[in-house]
Amino acid sequence: MTKPPMLTAQQALDHLLSHATPVSECEEVAMQAALGRVLAQDVSCLVDVPPLDNTSMDGYAVRAADTKIPGNILKVAQRIPAGSVGTTLEPGTVARIFTGAPIPPGADAVVMQEDCAIPEGLTDQVQVNIAPVLGQWIRRRGEDLTAGKTALIAGTFLRPQELGVAASAGLTHLNVKRRVKVAAFFTGDELSLPGEPLKPGGIYNSNRDTLLACLKSLGCDATDYGIIPDSLSATRETLRKASKNHDLIITSGGVSVGEEDHIKPAVTAEGRLDLWQIAIKPGKPLAFGTVRKSDEPKDGEAWFIGLPGNPVSSFVTFLLFVRPFILKLQGRDTSSPQSYLMRADFDWPKADRRNEFLRVKINTQGGLDLFPNQSSGVLTSASWGDGLVDCPPGQAFKAGDLVKYIPFNALLA
Ligand code: AMP
Ligand code: MG
Repeated sequence: MTKPPMLTAQQALDHLLSHATPVSECEEVAMQAALGRVLAQDVSCLVDVPPLDNTSMDGYAVRAADTKIPGNILKVAQRIPAGSVGTTLEPGTVARIFTGAPIPPGADAVVMQEDCAIPEGLTDQVQVNIAPVLGQWIRRRGEDLTAGKTALIAGTFLRPQELGVAASAGLTHLNVKRRVKVAAFFTGDELSLPGEPLKPGGIYNSNRDTLLACLKSLGCDATDYGIIPDSLSATRETLRKASKNHDLIITSGGVSVGEEDHIKPAVTAEGRLDLWQIAIKPGKPLAFGTVRKSDEPKDGEAWFIGLPGNPVSSFVTFLLFVRPFILKLQGRDTSSPQSYLMRADFDWPKADRRNEFLRVKINTQGGLDLFPNQSSGVLTSASWGDGLVDCPPGQAFKAGDLVKYIPFNALLA
């Protein structure tokens, strides 16, 4: 039996990304429905934000020239709450003004109310106790966004703050990419769903909940095809069904080349498959290929990525390979996830030939602690951890050394 080629993580990723092409269909959705979607076209501002110069403090709008000497008493000639507009500020007068209200013409600074005093018995006068700097506490028209300019660019993954930016720019709807459709199934005769009795020699299917939730956090439309027994015909049949309405099929388990591993022959029979050994730990075997949607070539193919069965391996390989593949299908930036150089507060003396991804947690001293059991079957390491240390092949390190840390947060959106 020929051994599959051994690739570095980067080689495997480059290969995957060179095949993926972004989905082209888009749809217009109301702002709240756009959360977790990907913007299909640039958003142009309908208005300046803020639309007018306005005050960022409760206080008094003044002419700075009138308040050069601290302690000056000036007439309060008008009152401008948020949502109303004042009149020109005559020299020697000030305007009582409240946060968000427009600066009246003629005013060039705001003095906050804490720096002013009402002279005894003179309710229409104010004593200004500081000499304000020109422009103080004034938010300028257009300082956030400018009418006609781009507020958000195509390919942006829409988080709550992007929806707010689009709303402040005056939009009610956004043009987003259609969701990437992903089918998932989980191979293994030993698997049961939680809630069902465990079979003798069985375990619960944890990959289902981990991987479906990963897909959801990336904004995919995920379909669960359930637990599939270790049989060639059942695997082929599920691949055929899943290929019809999906862009991508992901599976867990059965990607080795043992007698009970049916992914390779099943995908090969239904399409095309490359089986790789990737020099990473956890998660060595990974399968990549396509499955025909029908016997008609014009109907095209669905992508296929087969992940290893061990729960940490399937989670980590999803984050390292499936996530960027999906980002590319979504038309998003696929550059490396955000990483930080951080201090390891543990020794890692056992350099491995493979690129290791260690489950770690940030401690209160600003360093990283290691989960003691780094086995690929111990999923609590990932739930205890805040992220991964990306440890290059052959590298050992000592406590105090700086290491490359990738937070899970950066990998789950
Ligand atoms: P495999 O990749 O199919 O050889 O499986 C490797 C290991 O992962 C075995 O110990 C399996 O029992 C376990 N495993 C496979 N699939 C799952 C799953 N969906 N949930 C939990 N463990 C799994
Ligand atoms: Mg198996």
